[in-house]
Amino acid sequence: MNSNDNNKIGCVKCGAEKTMVTLNGENYCAHCYNLIELGRHGIKEDFTHPELMMVSEADGTMHSFTVSHLVYDNVVHWYADEIGGGLHAEHVSFIRAETKKMLDSFYKKLKQTVLTKSVDKRPAGKDFISDELYRDDKYYSLKDRGTIQICMLDEYSIGFMVDGEKFTPDEFALMCGSFANWNMLYQMHEVSDGPLNNDEVLVRWRMTKKLMVQELKDLLRTVVNIWNHIPAGKQKQFELGFMTICFELRQYSRCAFYEAEQAADEMRDILKDVTSDEKEYPEKYLDMIGGATAPWEWDD
Ligand SMILES: [Zn+2]
Repeated sequence: MNSNDNNKIGCVKCGAEKTMVTLNGENYCAHCYNLIELGRHGIKEDFTHPELMMVSEADGTMHSFTVSHLVYDNVVHWYADEIGGGLHAEHVSFIRAETKKMLDSFYKKLKQTVLTKSVDKRPAGKDFISDELYRDDKYYSLKDRGTIQICMLDEYSIGFMVDGEKFTPDEFALMCGSFANWNMLYQMHEVSDGPLNNDEVLVRWRMTKKLMVQELKDLLRTVVNIWNHIPAGKQKQFELGFMTICFELRQYSRCAFYEAEQAADEMRDILKDVTSDEKEYPEKYLDMIGGATAPWEWDD
């Protein structure tokens, strides 16, 4: 299956001119392709959603986005592309998720994408500043935290997209000018993770599969009795500690997805050796692990 830009051959099912997916050498429009994928899960209808979403800024600037989606197995990828601008947001959801709830969180993410600025723009005065980017009669400088997308400027050259505007590597370097001699700590995230908000920070945090599993072992040691059983009096303590571990597992999963999956498997095995008076044990906790390592559950 490949994305397909060749729009000359229409969709083999409905004849729509705009095709997005090639499946077994045949071109499909997004709608027909989604129906095939959903059909494999016994779902007959594609998601109904507005084709346009709009976000306005405090100064009245309006941003309009086209909304599209593609189903891949049991996950739906949502895309919002700004009309006449460079802003873009992505979101993933589970095929059985409620459409309204999913659209609400996608809209929230879209708003965050529009309203969170990673660049400071100032009107140029008469003094020339050599270590900042001068463009369109404005000075551009990077804020001390934010989100930068690595993008293709054209077919051959790589550059950066910040706040929906494209920058060449040289322009980008100039935007960092006011931070000369500083360090930039960075971490790669996929686009569906959304931008870093103004009130969020990235922290140095050491996490490995071994540490993650050890935390669960440490927690269990404080709550189980000699029969490896969690007595009723320790259930609340276990649950609270487990929630913290799952929160960390989710953060870990965001930057090291496969390692986090492996840690999750080991944690599941450990839980199976433990008993509890709690009726939903271990299912409830296995579900929490599942949620922490499933991107479509990350709507925080
Ligand atoms: Zn079609």
